[in-house]
Amino acid sequence: MNITNDIVTEYIHNFYKPLSNELDDLREQSENNNIPIILKETENFLVNFLKIIKPKKILEIGTAVGYSSIVFATAIPGVKITTIEKDEDLYTLARYNIERFALTGRINLFSGDADDIIKTLNADYDFVFIDASKSHYRDFFKAAEKKCLTGAVIVSDNVLLKASTVDDSFDKGRRHRTNIKRMREFLNYLNEREDLSTALLSCGDGLAITKLNDE
Ligand code: SAM
Repeated sequence: MNITNDIVTEYIHNFYKPLSNELDDLREQSENNNIPIILKETENFLVNFLKIIKPKKILEIGTAVGYSSIVFATAIPGVKITTIEKDEDLYTLARYNIERFALTGRINLFSGDADDIIKTLNADYDFVFIDASKSHYRDFFKAAEKKCLTGAVIVSDNVLLKASTVDDSFDKGRRHRTNIKRMREFLNYLNEREDLSTALLSCGDGLAITKLNDE
């Protein structure tokens, strides 16, 4: 289900413009193959947000086929991206797509579990996009923030889990209980940290925008 009503979502979708025909094709292929990629309204928001904050180095946790990384690299000239994918088949597809879009020099793709890979990275990121296993967001966040410059921004996607984070009744059959519980814990954790400033947006499947302390 959409977390905003369907008429509003459709209206917002009408404002969506793909960055290129090739990216539009990659979105269509991914959606047809049930590969989860950022929703159109999330892409629209992130592209504009990134143009405002102009990061130099992005860390993405959860590559899938490389769609969002390729969008970020296309939208922000010169930005360098590190992206991590643990599924080997998706990693192979992402590598192929990044090569096809001639972005191997700007997108550094890692195969493996983010928990292991993040530890090996330098601490020079000014933007992080968390879009992987929904039950591990707190761990991803804690590991990623250690790799950030002061004042960096961390965006966590899908935090409203089709509204089930807000109310259990949206989780039909109670199949996602663990994810929901952990997502609530993660959002409470962000909210309780005095050194962070977090805004929740009902954009796409819900975004948490967190600004790390500047001091
Ligand atoms: N950001 C991508 C995009 O919008 O194009 C979509 C990412 S998809 C929603 C989530 C991906 O995270 C999946 O491909 C999954 O295999 C990967 N993933 C899940 N847990 C992970 C982990 N612990 N480390 C690395 N990748 C992980």
